[in-house]
Amino acid sequence: MKLLEYEAKRVFAEYGIPVPKGVVIRAPEEVAAHLPDLGDGVVLKAQVDVGGRGKAGGVLFADAKTAVETARELFSREIKGVPVGEILVEERLPIEHEYYVSIAVDRSSRQPVVLFADAGGVEIEKMAEEDESAVRRVIVSPLLSDIPPFLMRELLGGAPKELAPVINSLYHVFQGKDAMLAEINPLVTTARGVYAADAKLIVDDNALARQGITVNRDLSEREREAEKHGFSYVELDGSIGVIGNGAGLTMSTLDLIEFYNGRAANFLDVGGGADQERVMHAVKLVASMPGVNVIVVNLLGGITRCDEVAKGIIAAGVAPTVIVRMAGTNEEEGRRLLAECGYRMLDSMDTAVKAAMEVSP
Ligand code: GDP
Ligand code: MN
Repeated sequence: MKLLEYEAKRVFAEYGIPVPKGVVIRAPEEVAAHLPDLGDGVVLKAQVDVGGRGKAGGVLFADAKTAVETARELFSREIKGVPVGEILVEERLPIEHEYYVSIAVDRSSRQPVVLFADAGGVEIEKMAEEDESAVRRVIVSPLLSDIPPFLMRELLGGAPKELAPVINSLYHVFQGKDAMLAEINPLVTTARGVYAADAKLIVDDNALARQGITVNRDLSEREREAEKHGFSYVELDGSIGVIGNGAGLTMSTLDLIEFYNGRAANFLDVGGGADQERVMHAVKLVASMPGVNVIVVNLLGGITRCDEVAKGIIAAGVAPTVIVRMAGTNEEEGRRLLAECGYRMLDSMDTAVKAAMEVSP
């Protein structure tokens, strides 16, 4: 799980890494109350989970006079398509130099690898591509609780020694938080010392329970309903509802819709052995999405019986056109039941998707 910058900075601070003074705001006016504490120059940073945020207009500078207006501007932006719901407002650091440091797992040696570059900032990937020697790397045994001094010297080269304790603390974060990646870009020097001006931390999903991290997502009512029934469910922004059994079949249905330039409203995998009851809940759920005017049900009858599915679809009794493609166990009976109630059942997923496109181009 990737933490937002301010969440990562909280963790970094716990491990003794200096981070700029800052507050998280959710509305432009909130910034005013914090200005006396943050000083005249501030940096406003959109808390969105996208790379290259600065270049995409997600990092703005302001002073006490312009802070509220700048916050308003940033809240109105979308950064690479992601709306800005939270802004981290920080004191503006008088940066002398920007460095790059990251720690990840090296797949070939299966050990932590620390990367360091003298020129950090926003263009690190480009720079590393052009000049491989610009990025130094050392492998650290996971059995060690600190980066040994000789490796630290190799890593830093001619860079200031004050960076060493911060990089070592980042290694503690990496170990302590079961991280897949811990990164500071830029790690900066100022007249007041070294700071993590940015922070990135990805915690291994397999370690979330051990880390006591509960994923803090705001579930919509439909998402909660899906969770209750154990459906794999993702909302998208199109108008063609999709229900399938098995992630592969469901994804193929989405792909086919995309292939014909249609727009799927969701992904819903009812799972294996779905009975009448589950199918009914699935159809009702997708039909309740605003903007959905047709639903493609694409199921393979194995343990799942097509007649059960048909009964479930009929029991849902929802208004939108439901177009069914089913094959397998009890297919004939399913087809008969659906036909009796005026539903369309088509022979292939191709024709089913095309039929849906006619309703919802
Ligand atoms: P990213 O684009 O998402 O990686 O955002 P960063 O947090 O790394 O910020 C992008 C750039 O903004 C940095 O590389 C710095 O050059 C600049 N920046 C960020 N914070 C400060 C600050 O406090 N003072 C100054 N002078 N520049 C900053
Ligand atoms: Mn950065």
